Amino acid sequence: MKLIFATANKHKVEEVQELLGNSFVVITPADLGFSGDIPETGDTLEHNAAEKVRFVWEKFGLPCFSDDTGLEVDALDGAPGAFSARYAGDARDPKANLRLVLKNMKGQMNRKARFRCVISLIINGEERFFEGRTEGVILEEEHGAHGFGYDPVFRPEGFDCSFAELTLEAKNRISHRGKAVAKLVDYLQHYEQCRQ
Ligand code: IMP
Repeated sequence: MKLIFATANKHKVEEVQELLGNSFVVITPADLGFSGDIPETGDTLEHNAAEKVRFVWEKFGLPCFSDDTGLEVDALDGAPGAFSARYAGDARDPKANLRLVLKNMKGQMNRKARFRCVISLIINGEERFFEGRTEGVILEEEHGAHGFGYDPVFRPEGFDCSFAELTLEAKNRISHRGKAVAKLVDYLQHYEQCRQ
């Protein structure tokens, strides 16, 4: 089955394709010739995931899904949350975002945080949501060169390294997106079986 992933983020596509395996082929709006921005204007992950997937469904009318992810830091009252991509401004610069988190967390004792990922899927006009979370802490400085976004400053619970020090496979096994995609795969496999 072909699925359109409503994103322009190549890292996310790589992570999700690895998780979905060979039964599902992930394509992006760019692969179908779309070059604009996919709207993302809400203040919750659920709103943004729904907005992105509905935009792509209306454009192409093919099975599609979106993911919206936020880093929720307890000492920052849940920020950056749904504003994770734009935390340091509209330039959506991942390095600037990550450095602003480090700055705002300087001297802070409570470093608890989590990544929360919401996936929205539309098949045959019906919409479904899947959620995954990874608990952890915000490090004092950047570590590691894998991954993307806030990975270098996030240490998942039970590990002594950052997300950016894990391989793609290791991150996928424990990540928020890995958990949400596992639920998506489960749903898609049942959906496929019911059609046969
Ligand atoms: P969005 O889901 O594409 O809106 O991403 C929101 C922000 O969170 C972006 O700045 C991403 O770089 C960041 N982000 C999303 N997923 C991850 C992840 O798995 N690790 C680290 N940062 C992420």
